[in-house]
Amino acid sequence: MAHHISDYLVIGSGIAGLSFAIKASQTGSVTLITKRRLADAATSYAQGGIAAVSDPEDSTERHISDTLSAGAGLCSQDVVSYVIEHAPARMQDLVDWGMRFDAERGLEAGHTFRRVFHAGDFTGREIEDVLIKKISQQKNIAVFENHIAVDLITTGKINRRFAGADERCWGAYVLDINGNTIQTFLAKTVVLATGGAGKVYLYTSSPDVSTGDGMAMAYRCGATMANMEFVQFHPTCLFHPQAKSFLISEAVRGEGAILRLKNGQPFMHKYHPMKELAPRDIVARAIDQELKSSGEDFVYLDITAKGEKFLTARFPNIYSTCLKYGIDMAKDFIPVVPAAHYFCGGVKTTLSGETSIRHLFAIGETACTGMHGANRLASNSLLEALVCADTAVTRARELVAAPCSFPDIPVWDSGNARDSDESVVVSQNWEEIRHFMGNYVGIVRSTKRLERAARRIELLQQEISEYYWNFIITSDLIELRNIATVAELVIHGAQQRRESRGLHYTLDFPASSAHPADTIIRRFPTV
Ligand SMILES: Cc1cc2nc3c(=O)[nH]c(=O)nc-3n(C[C@H](O)[C@H](O)[C@H](O)COP(=O)(O)OP(=O)(O)OC[C@H]3O[C@@H](n4cnc5c(N)ncnc54)[C@H](O)[C@@H]3O)c2cc1C
Repeated sequence: MAHHISDYLVIGSGIAGLSFAIKASQTGSVTLITKRRLADAATSYAQGGIAAVSDPEDSTERHISDTLSAGAGLCSQDVVSYVIEHAPARMQDLVDWGMRFDAERGLEAGHTFRRVFHAGDFTGREIEDVLIKKISQQKNIAVFENHIAVDLITTGKINRRFAGADERCWGAYVLDINGNTIQTFLAKTVVLATGGAGKVYLYTSSPDVSTGDGMAMAYRCGATMANMEFVQFHPTCLFHPQAKSFLISEAVRGEGAILRLKNGQPFMHKYHPMKELAPRDIVARAIDQELKSSGEDFVYLDITAKGEKFLTARFPNIYSTCLKYGIDMAKDFIPVVPAAHYFCGGVKTTLSGETSIRHLFAIGETACTGMHGANRLASNSLLEALVCADTAVTRARELVAAPCSFPDIPVWDSGNARDSDESVVVSQNWEEIRHFMGNYVGIVRSTKRLERAARRIELLQQEISEYYWNFIITSDLIELRNIATVAELVIHGAQQRRESRGLHYTLDFPASSAHPADTIIRRFPTV
């Protein structure tokens, strides 16, 4: 089978991948692959918006200071400054491409000024629509939907002898999900824009595509990973068997909603003077504590004090979605649980998205640039993705301009793999990982819980690896293998951090160290 060759290979179609592709296509050919449809991305789910300074009474320094204080001592000051200083210019790109934001700005937890650009509570969906439309107008971009990257092709993967030496990325093996074939995509630069990994946890606000594929692929080929233990949990995700990952925005608490136990008693007064308006991690920890001590599955969010008229106007998306599941938020309490929401860590990169492997970039939630430190400030992630897609294009363009001759790259070899007659292994392992990650590596951790999790993931990794090499691979198996790898990285990151900081809270080391440092994980690449 012939290889697909282009200047840029972009993996992922959220805000990071799409905005990179639009700009890169001005100077070269772009291949964009995405594992479902283009719009299947966490970006489409963002409700709150994008933070950027626009009011003369606000200031860049203030936005920087809010970001650094959320990041709890681990942000890279240079990255934060660059991203925030360049926010207005990148927001203008979105507007030039057709995005329309509401006239007034939103206020969110941790921001000291109303600076969040939004479009109702559908901001992410609107942005994604605008970017997809723009992509469809570019001549230089070939889009492959329902194509899932399996593994990156690096110098060490082609020839074991060079593994770990001067690694360079040449492309990726990609499963065409409908055609059931594994194809080779080569490019002068490869960009991971594969989003986060919320699906590592049972309860998550993230969509099904968020299985940490880019993080796992990068780690397997030896890229440096950073701060994987900092997983942000959103306090209020709808608890309903059919509503897999629906978020009840923080703005609902901002409008006066009260958290109640199943017996109707409020409880936030026990945890923080600001009660329901306490910072996100404190509210999530309080709910977790109440659930662990009561053994219940959920708590309630009560916004019934506001009438239907107000709720339908302020929260049209949340109101209609709850109603679809039989909950009228003007009359009923909403059952909620904390849910994994955002990965602050990821593939360690420079501000320009360069990873430790030459010609391999990572941008958006997959990357760890240093922007978010130990805790992300609300509405800063779409911003970081947008700004770093731009800096990455500038650097990637230089690499693409240099002459390049591809080495001989073998086609994918399935060996003696056969069709699986035991798909139950995949679903069983998938469930097991997501359960124990929630219980042992969730909001409140301890040395003992992390040890238990580490033992379990080691066993599961062996089983998954055997299964992976013996059977013909499917997208479910690829994703299982990746969530197992990300779970392992989160556990090991959490074990290395012998302090509590930002989103990482452990009963055995409740204080913060006086010398904050990133957690770095790297392993010798495997083929
Ligand atoms: C419910 C919710 C609400 C949020 N609200 C906000 C908000 O208001 N403001 C804010 O700043 N942030 C918000 N966030 C976070 C923000 O949405 C994400 O961090 C951001 O959208 C990530 O963008 P991305 O381009 O990096 O990844 P994504 O948008 O997740 O896109 C990743 C893409 O990669 C594809 N992909 C993954 N693996 C593969 C593979 N192996 N092969 C091919 N394709 C692959 C996926 O299909 C997808 O297209 C929210 C997140 C959630 C879940």
